[in-house]
Amino acid sequence: MTFLTEERRMIQEQAREFTLNEVLPVANKLDPEKGEIPMDLRDKMAELGYFGILIPEKYGGLGLGCSEYCLVTEELSRGWMSVASLIARGNSLIGSHMMNEEQKSRYLTRMARGEFLGAFSMSEPNAGSDISNISCRAKKDGASWLISGNKYWCTFADGADFMIIIARTSEAPPGKRHMGLTMFFIEKKRGELPPGCSGAPIPKIGYFGWKTFELAFDNCRVPAENVIGEEGHAFYYATSGLEAARAHTAARAIGLAQGALDDSIAYSNDRKQFGHSISDFQAIRFKIADMATQIEAARQLMYFVCEQIDTGQRCDKEASMVKLFASEMAERVTSEGIQIHGGAGYTTLHAVERHWRDARLTKIFEGTSEIQKRIISDRLLGRGRN
Ligand SMILES: Cc1cc2nc3c(=O)[nH]c(=O)nc-3n(C[C@H](O)[C@H](O)[C@H](O)COP(=O)(O)OP(=O)(O)OC[C@H]3O[C@@H](n4cnc5c(N)ncnc54)[C@H](O)[C@@H]3O)c2cc1C
Repeated sequence: MTFLTEERRMIQEQAREFTLNEVLPVANKLDPEKGEIPMDLRDKMAELGYFGILIPEKYGGLGLGCSEYCLVTEELSRGWMSVASLIARGNSLIGSHMMNEEQKSRYLTRMARGEFLGAFSMSEPNAGSDISNISCRAKKDGASWLISGNKYWCTFADGADFMIIIARTSEAPPGKRHMGLTMFFIEKKRGELPPGCSGAPIPKIGYFGWKTFELAFDNCRVPAENVIGEEGHAFYYATSGLEAARAHTAARAIGLAQGALDDSIAYSNDRKQFGHSISDFQAIRFKIADMATQIEAARQLMYFVCEQIDTGQRCDKEASMVKLFASEMAERVTSEGIQIHGGAGYTTLHAVERHWRDARLTKIFEGTSEIQKRIISDRLLGRGRN
């Protein structure tokens, strides 16, 4: 069966057109000045249903699968990875299997409409790859919980309408540090941090369009009904949606690599040296051929993983493979893109440098490349020592 059905091709083409007309001009202007993704762009994405691709139709979403989600993600990322990441703040931030019916009807419809987008606060200063080391605590206080402790790397903490946070609610039994973690839903005012939470943006080198925060929680009060799923089970929830999250990150990497390739082809046709377009030189032609080949290999693996996810097959190894392969590929391809642009590539006047900075991040978040290799090798060799 062909992956790119007629319907998927239409979805892909619509997202491509939207990116070229609406996302790219905004990204080219705002990324160099570290501006924020504007509300009117967000509204246009909402009109197209992009925040609800994975949300069931009965809650106002498009009720589609990971395949369509990743096709749209790839196209948006051709323009600006941050915009491609924004759609995850509706769609998949909380898997609907984790929510009870009351939470679903309260939140999912607004999420699908793009009116209610979230931030995810899992990482801490001492809990990055090792999320079982989370030390932020939540204590029961009557009909609510009080959260205290430090979080790090919370993207969109200010702009979001809600925050998902993971905190320790009970001591873990010896050798089982992943137990005793609980997931909470914090509703907040857009543009502010929740009461009982203060923070400051971290000075990052890319992924502009929104801010990434360090946060300090000091008795932040959360109603008991805002626990997501079962108390003590957050580790399982955080890891259960990872296959789709990794496919989504691969899609982001593939999209920005494709953006770098498209720009490099256009630039190499335009730029003349020694009386020729540089695209006449074999050194440049072969770079373009290598870039395109690597992108297509990653894309085909992504299609495979999406199909496995959409047909309910286990594919944790392959999801790690595509995340690893696509992000490593994106760094190489965008770097070659800069090389093809020569000095122009080392300025903020061409999008290729944005794609290069953002590609670098895809190797770090959603599980670093080393963690992906650990998962893949553990599946092939059995669990390692460390
Ligand atoms: C811009 C940005 C935005 C982010 N947004 C969010 C967000 O919104 N919410 C959120 O919760 N988090 C977010 N993160 C955090 C991100 O998920 C973590 O940075 C990532 O998981 C890595 O953790 P760390 O930075 O603590 O690195 P570490 O875990 O300290 O890793 C450092 C190095 O050691 C390696 N390493 C660690 N453990 C092992 C091991 N067992 N075997 C081999 N190598 C290992 C790593 O691969 C890496 O090379 C964001 C990060 C960035 C940079």
